[in-house]
Amino acid sequence: MKILVLNCGSSSLKYQLVDMDGEKLLAKGLVERIGMAGSHIKHTKVAGKEKFDKDVSFPTHTEAIKFVLDMLVDKKFGVLKNLSELSAAGHRVVHGGEDFTESALVTPKVLEGIRKVTPLAPLHNPANLQGIEAVQKVLPDLPNVVVFDTSFHQTMPATSYLYGIPYEFYKKEKIRRYGFHGTSHKYVSQRCAELLGKPIKELRIITCHLGNGSSITAVKKGKSLDTTMGYSPTAGVIMGTRSGDVDPAVLIQLASLGYDADKINEICNKKSGLLGISGVSSDLRDVEEAAEDNNWRAETAQNMLIYEVKKYIGAYAAAMGGVDAIVFTAGIGENGIAFREKVCKDLEFLGVKFDKNNNKVRGEEVLISKKRSPVKVFVIPTNEELMIARDTQRLVLGSAPAKKAAAKKTTAKRTAKKTAAK
Ligand code: ADP
Repeated sequence: MKILVLNCGSSSLKYQLVDMDGEKLLAKGLVERIGMAGSHIKHTKVAGKEKFDKDVSFPTHTEAIKFVLDMLVDKKFGVLKNLSELSAAGHRVVHGGEDFTESALVTPKVLEGIRKVTPLAPLHNPANLQGIEAVQKVLPDLPNVVVFDTSFHQTMPATSYLYGIPYEFYKKEKIRRYGFHGTSHKYVSQRCAELLGKPIKELRIITCHLGNGSSITAVKKGKSLDTTMGYSPTAGVIMGTRSGDVDPAVLIQLASLGYDADKINEICNKKSGLLGISGVSSDLRDVEEAAEDNNWRAETAQNMLIYEVKKYIGAYAAAMGGVDAIVFTAGIGENGIAFREKVCKDLEFLGVKFDKNNNKVRGEEVLISKKRSPVKVFVIPTNEELMIARDTQRLVLGSAPAKKAAAKKTTAKRTAKKTAAK
C-alpha cells in the first residue's frame, strides 16, 4: 500500500511517499512560496538519490499537488508506474479542537468539523484544508485521511487543560490548553516503550520535542497527561522565536504601552525566545557559538532553555508520581549533544545516570543514560510522517468506501490489462 503524506502550510507543501510494505520512504519533497513570486520545488527520489530542484510557478496548492503527482510518475524522478498505485493521502492538520480525538477518514462532515475549529488555528487549518481540497480536485477517487497535532493531547484531564480564568470562557469560547506536536509525542513514546520492551500502559515517559518549536509532554500509561504548549503553540519553554510562558500582566502592560494585538502577537511569536533574549539568532547552534565567545545574552538564552527543560521534567515527574524514561527528539533534542548533557547531568537526583559517551550521537536512536540507570534516557528521531502514514493505512483498510475504492482499483487494473491484451 503506497501512501502520500502531505503537510500543507499557507505557502508551502511538504510531502513523502511511503510504501507501507516495509514502511519504506520512496520519495520526498518540499514546495515553497506557493502563490508568490519565485515558487520552488525540491523533490528527491530516495533510491538513487535523484533530485529535482527548480523554480516552477505554482499559483495555488492545486498546481503544486498536480506537479508533485507528475513527479511521482516521472521517468527519471518518479517512483510509481502510474497514479493508480496510490492508495490514499494522509494530511497533517494542526488543530482538531475538542471534536477530533482521533485521526479521521475525510468526509464532508469531517471537512466541516475542521472548518469549525479554524478560529483556533486561523493560519494553519485553512492551509491544511487547501491541501485536502487540492487532492480531492486532482484525484477525486483517492481516500484522504486527516491526522491532528492536537488529538493525542485530548486525553488530558480538566486539571491539566483548564486555565484559571472564568469557566464561561472555556464553555463559550473553547479557551483551554490543547497542546501540539501530538503525532511526535505519540510516536516517540510508543517507540520508547518498544525499546524498553515494556507495555506502554506500565510506563511514565517524559517526551521532549525540542526544535524551532518545542514542547514537553508527560505521557502516563500511553496517554498525554499534560503538555507545555497550550491554547496556542506559543506557550511552554522558550523556543527559537516564541516566548513560551509569560505572565498575562506582561501582555496587558504591552497593550497599555500602545502595542495592538497584531504587534503583541508578532513580538511573542517572531521576536522572542532564543532570538529575543540572545539578539544573535533563533538557531541554538548560533546561540551556543556566541555563548562560547562570552556573549552574556547568548549564554543566558541557552541557559534559560536548559533550565526550563529541567524544570518541566521535574514537574512532570512529580505530576506522574515518578518517571521511567525521558526522550529527546526534534532538531535540538536529536542533535544537541552539549545541550542534552547540560540538561541530564543535573537530573541525577531523579535517577538519571547519564552516559557521556553514549550521548555523542546526532539523529540516531540511542540510549544516552547508562544501561542500569533507574530512569532511562533516549534520543529517538521523530517520524511524524510515518505516524500519519500508519493512521492513514489503518483507517483506509478499515473503511467501507475505501474498500470499495480498492476494489474499483482492482477492477480498473483488470480492465487495463484486458485492454492492453487486446
Ligand atoms: P522545526 O521545529 O522547525 O521542525 P527542527 O526540529 O528542525 O525545527 O529543529 C531546528 C532546530 O534544531 C534549529 O533551530 C537548531 O536550533 C537545532 N539544531 C539542529 N542541529 C543542532 C545541533 N547540532 N546542536 C544544537 N542544536 C541543533
